[in-house]
Amino acid sequence: MTINVENVTKTYESGEVTIHALREATLKIPDHKIVTILGPSGSGKSTLLNVIGGIDRFDSGTLVVAGQQLELLKDHQLTDFRRKYAGFIFQQYNLIPTLTVQENVEVGRELSENPLDMKSMLEKVGMYDKKDKFPYQLSGGEQQRVAIARALIKNPQFLLCDEPTGALDEVTGKKILRLLKYVNEEFGTTVLIITHNHGIGAMAHKIIKMSSGSIVESFDNESPIDPEKVTWA
Ligand code: ADP
Ligand code: MG
Repeated sequence: MTINVENVTKTYESGEVTIHALREATLKIPDHKIVTILGPSGSGKSTLLNVIGGIDRFDSGTLVVAGQQLELLKDHQLTDFRRKYAGFIFQQYNLIPTLTVQENVEVGRELSENPLDMKSMLEKVGMYDKKDKFPYQLSGGEQQRVAIARALIKNPQFLLCDEPTGALDEVTGKKILRLLKYVNEEFGTTVLIITHNHGIGAMAHKIIKMSSGSIVESFDNESPIDPEKVTWA
């Protein structure tokens, strides 16, 4: 099991109010699978992804990821964990505007012990011919391909994708989903996809639904469909 979340709770203090972002969230995520996390805005999806990837701490519970018990790690150990095992993809790509495609991907490489080959990675995401372009010269879909290459070059065990197609149209979004499926099959990377788009659940091996900080449903999908066949909503 790559990821085992048990009774994980996280609150935020906002002025006088305590926000319960995660309430005893419990779930298991098997290795080498595509998993989608669905749920309304504010239900705790991003918080869950951020604690799994070691971006954020949590208040109580147990979280084991890639054999590491995250609540026991000191801050510098959590940083090492994140660099070694986790790749992140965000809705807004988060590329560095002053760096070229290749230099952006290089950032991911520098953080890693065991990087993959730059040229073959850029080829795999279909961006090798644009390696010297800057982010502003690229479409949204192309920028997301570069972000995926940056996350993957360090050969992470899992890829955490927070609304990866949220800023993309249907045709481009489906190409990105195709790429994520390819990554899962080619490298065996566990791929977690947060989405508002319920149709995307149909391409996953496992579907998780959240509401008000809790996991309210979790089920396996015996026959994931091709990303191209996803109903776009
Ligand atoms: P989702 O990704 O499902 O939309 P989030 O995990 O972003 O939900 O947020 C869960 C809850 O925690 C929401 O009520 C949100 O407003 C709150 N929250 C998230 N991040 C912070 C933060 N940094 N400070 C205060 N409240 C936060
Ligand atoms: Mg979110």
